[in-house]
This record gives sequence, C-alpha cells and structure tokens, in this order.
Amino acid sequence: MKTKIMLTFDSEYTAKPLTYRLIKEYNLVINILKADIGYNNIGHILYEIEGDEAMIKKTLTDLNEPGIHLEMVEAIIAVDRSRCTDCGLCTAVCFPDALAVTGPDWELTYNSDKCTGCDLCLPVCPSKAISKASLL
Ligand code: SF4
Ligand code: SF4
Repeated sequence: MKTKIMLTFDSEYTAKPLTYRLIKEYNLVINILKADIGYNNIGHILYEIEGDEAMIKKTLTDLNEPGIHLEMVEAIIAVDRSRCTDCGLCTAVCFPDALAVTGPDWELTYNSDKCTGCDLCLPVCPSKAISKASLL
C-alpha cells in the first residue's frame, strides 16, 4: 500500500528521530515530500509512505500520542470547480502530471496520488481556483 501522511509535532519532538522510528519500527519505505517548522515551533512533515497496510494503520494509531499527530492526506491541493475555467495553465507547471486537462470533456482533473505538494500550481492560476488542502 502506498499513501501520504502528515505528521505534526510539538517542539519537544524537533530533535527526536521520528522518521527513523517510522522506518525502523514499522518497516515503512519513506519519501519526505515536504517539511517545515513554524515560528511557533510546531513541525509538519508530509510523507509518502509504502508498506504493509496493517502496519500503516498501526503506525497511525501508535504514533498519535501527546505532542504528535499523524493523519492520512487525501489531497494536498483543492480545485474550486466554480472558479476553474479549464484553461490548463496549471498543468504546464505540474511536473508529476497530477493536473491534466483531457478529453472528452477537456476538464481539469487532479490526481492526488501523483501530487508531490510542490505548490507550483497555486500562483499560476489566473482564477485563483487552487488552494492548499493540507497544512503544508
Ligand atoms: S490554471 Fe486555474 S483555471 Fe486554469 S485549469 Fe488550472 S485551476 Fe483551472
Ligand atoms: S502541488 Fe505540485 S504536484 Fe501537486 S498538483 Fe500542484 S503543481 Fe502538481
């Protein structure tokens, strides 16, 4: 199973090897897509993880302890269909091809499995139709 998860942690965990724990204790293959520590010392890491489904579910349960929050990420961006004109400009900067305008309707589609959260699509949309759906 391959999915994306968001880890949010308090400052006390900043120097702790959380990613190492995910690999070592849960045997997960980890790809860090984004990481950030805010001015309030709250940290976020967006992972793409691959591993046994039962083990991923166990990780989500085990690591939700005080100071750490782990959740599945269904989508990294959101497209407001009422604003989108299907112009396709955003697809030109989406290198993983998560955004595409294809027939027969030539409507914009978003594939969250392919999205890496690079945010390049946000500023290029002339209709301001794209927003962040996750914390990072
Ligand atoms: S750039 Fe904006 S309006 Fe154009 S297809 Fe993308 S989301 Fe829609
Ligand atoms: S955030 Fe990056 S990868 Fe995701 S849809 Fe936008 S341009 Fe594509």
